[in-house]
Amino acid sequence: MAIERTLIIVKPDGVQRGLVGQVIARFEARGLRIAGLKLMHISRELAEQHYAEHKHKPFYESTVKYITSSPVVVMVLEGPDAIAAARATLGATNPLNAQPGTIRADFGLNISRNIAHGSDKLETAEREIALYFKPEELLSYQRAGDVWLIE
Ligand code: GDP
Repeated sequence: MAIERTLIIVKPDGVQRGLVGQVIARFEARGLRIAGLKLMHISRELAEQHYAEHKHKPFYESTVKYITSSPVVVMVLEGPDAIAAARATLGATNPLNAQPGTIRADFGLNISRNIAHGSDKLETAEREIALYFKPEELLSYQRAGDVWLIE
């Protein structure tokens, strides 16, 4: 059980639909700790870096347009196995295939409007965190309740 950091983005639809608080609340309730958080408008250049692995896929252009269409909330969450835990809380990429109880199933219907992003593995998390945050914007601290979450 490694303590990891993962990048989460509440995408433009999540912000526009007023779901930011509910999305963060689910990660917080699970026990993940916020290490960094901000509202920003992703530039085309940053979106191209973020989605570089999808460059030749048919959904690339629409996905870049979607993530740059309106402000997003980006955050770094920290905790034991944070990457897999956050992905499980997010649910499958396509909300129609996501399990009820996950963010994407409970708030979404369409793969091209899937509310939030989460890093998929350690190397991706490190790369994505560096795209959105300077090291000094991320804080390490203990919460009073952490002893009740992590043995
Ligand atoms: P994720 O890690 O679960 O977000 O999934 P991927 O890395 O495979 O895809 C990145 C993002 O591209 C997804 O969150 C969707 O917004 C979008 N996307 C992926 N696959 C498709 C697809 O088949 N159609 C459309 N329209 N968008 C897609």
